[in-house]
Amino acid sequence: MFEISVEESFAAGHSLRNYHGKCEKIHGHNYKVRVTLEGETLNEAGLLVDFTELKRLLHSVVERLDHEYLNDVPPFDQLNPSAENMAKYLHDEIAKGVPAGTGARVASVRVWETDTSVATYRAG
Ligand SMILES: [Zn+2]
Repeated sequence: MFEISVEESFAAGHSLRNYHGKCEKIHGHNYKVRVTLEGETLNEAGLLVDFTELKRLLHSVVERLDHEYLNDVPPFDQLNPSAENMAKYLHDEIAKGVPAGTGARVASVRVWETDTSVATYRAG
């Protein structure tokens, strides 16, 4: 099994509903996202998926959130914008764009809210 990962950072604001603590007030994070694809087969160039292509895909999803107040951006106008929910959202959106025919799939998405706090969503 091969795995490849790319990362991107973005800044966004949020506040958590149904939560009592620091994160219930409006504040921002410099988020970091790492997406990992996995697959069994490589193309004739020896690649699972071109890093450039995966970075473009990650960027196209992340730019919807960059410099936004997440609580206003669907689905986070309904769904709490926790790092866990963001990891699943990013997983599902990136999965739609993984090039067909590569045999690659999204193995996991990690979302760092801070350098020391990270949530991971892994498809079951
Ligand atoms: Zn927060």
